[in-house]
Amino acid sequence: MTNNLSSKLFAKAKKLMPGGVNSPVRAFKNVDGEPFFVQRAKGSRIEDVDGNHYIDYIGTWGPAILGHAPTPVIHAVHEAAKMGTSFGIPNLFEVEMAQKVVDWVPSVEKVRMVSSGTEATMSAIRLARGYTGRDKIVKFEGCYHGHVDSLLIAAGSGALTHGEPDSAGIPASFAEQTITLPFNNFEKLEEVFEKYGEQLAAVILEPFPANAGLVFPLEGYLQKLRDLTTKYGTVLIFDEVMTGFRVAKGGVQELVGITPDLTAMGKVIGGGLPVGAFGGKAEIMDCLAPLGPVYQAGTLSGNPVAMAAGLAQMKAMEEQDGYTQLEKIGAQLEEGVLSILKEKGLGYKWNRVGSMFCLFFTDEVIVNVDNVMKSDMDHFRKFFWKALEGGVYFAPSPYETGFLSVAHTKQDIEQTLEVISNSL
Ligand SMILES: *Cc1c(COP(=O)(O)O)cnc(C)c1O
Repeated sequence: MTNNLSSKLFAKAKKLMPGGVNSPVRAFKNVDGEPFFVQRAKGSRIEDVDGNHYIDYIGTWGPAILGHAPTPVIHAVHEAAKMGTSFGIPNLFEVEMAQKVVDWVPSVEKVRMVSSGTEATMSAIRLARGYTGRDKIVKFEGCYHGHVDSLLIAAGSGALTHGEPDSAGIPASFAEQTITLPFNNFEKLEEVFEKYGEQLAAVILEPFPANAGLVFPLEGYLQKLRDLTTKYGTVLIFDEVMTGFRVAKGGVQELVGITPDLTAMGKVIGGGLPVGAFGGKAEIMDCLAPLGPVYQAGTLSGNPVAMAAGLAQMKAMEEQDGYTQLEKIGAQLEEGVLSILKEKGLGYKWNRVGSMFCLFFTDEVIVNVDNVMKSDMDHFRKFFWKALEGGVYFAPSPYETGFLSVAHTKQDIEQTLEVISNSL
C-alpha cells in the first residue's frame, strides 16, 4: 500500500486549511495518522488517489444508503442540473420532497428544507423556543446534534474523539440554557422535569444515539420522555438526521411507535448533496416565517438539484425493497462478527439496527456514553490500520457508527469478515 500522493496532498492541504480538512474527524488524528484522499467511489468501494481500493463502511457518514454514485441519483442530478441549479423561487421538486417526507415520517405534517443537519436542529430549537415562549432545553450526554452553539455541550462524535466535549467560542450564557442529562437514566430525567418542567422549551435527543457508538434506549425510556414532555408542554424533538430514512422509511419513530413533536432530518434525505430538513406538527411548524414570528430562511433551501438527488435515492430504496436488503446484509455481518469474537474469546460488545452497527472495544454493558468511553483505544487503533491495510475502511474512531449500503454484496461481507478476524 503506497500513499505518496495522499501524503503530498495532505501536506499541501494543511498549509491551506486548518488541519488540512473541512470537518475535524477526517484528519485521522484519533488514529494517529494521515487520511487518504479519494479519487472516486462506486457502490461499496472507494479508490484513493494512489490507486488503493477499500470496502467502505462509512458511506460518507450515512448518506450513501444506495452505495456511492448510484445510477438513479446520478441520472436525477444530471437531469435537474440541465434545467438550472438554483432559482430562489419555488420549484416542483420541493413539493414532491415535502410530500415524500410527510408520507414517510409518522410525526411530520409539515416540513421545511434546509442545507445541513446542523441547520435542521438549530432551527428546530429556535422554533420550539418561539412556540413555547421558554428558553431552557434538555439534551443528553453523547448525543450529537451538529455544531449548534447551544447543543455543542457533552456532544459525541468529533467532539468526543478530540477529548474536548465543549467547544471554545460558546458564551457561558448560551450554555446555561442547556441542561445536560445522562441517557437512559430515568431518575435524573424525572428530577429535571420536577424542577424545571414549566421552563423547558424542548428536549432534543437522538432516539437511538449513534454519535457515541450506537446506543439503544432502555425499555420504556422514550415513552417516559413522551409522557413527561406532554405533561409539561415541552416540545419533544427527535434528531433523526442519522436514523431517518436509514433504519426504516420513517426512522426510529416508525420502529418504536413513539411520535415526537418535531423531527430533524439530514444525511440520507439529500442523496449525497447538502440537505437537511425539520418538520412536525402543523400547529408548531406554522409558527415559522412567513406565517409566524419565528424567522428561518436559506438561499439554497429546497435546491432543485439536491431535492432531485434525495428524491431519486428515496424512490430507489422503495422500489428495490432496500430496507429488507439492508437487514439481510446487516444480519450476515453481525453473525460473522459475533462468531469471530467468540472464537477469539473477546467479550467486546456489538450493537446493530438494520444497516447501522458498532463494535465496541470494551466488555462493558452499553447503557450510555460512559460505557462507550471505556473503549480500548490502543487496540482500536491497531485494528483500524490493519483493517485499512486489508482493504476495509472503518471510521477512524471507536465512537462512530458503521454503515452498510444496498451496494454491499455477500462477497464484500465475507471478505470483510476475514479482514476483521485477521485485524482483531
Ligand atoms: C450528522 C448529524 C448532525 C449534523 O448534520 P450536518 O449535516 O453534519 O450538519 C446532526 N445530528 C445527528 C444525529 C447527526 O448524525
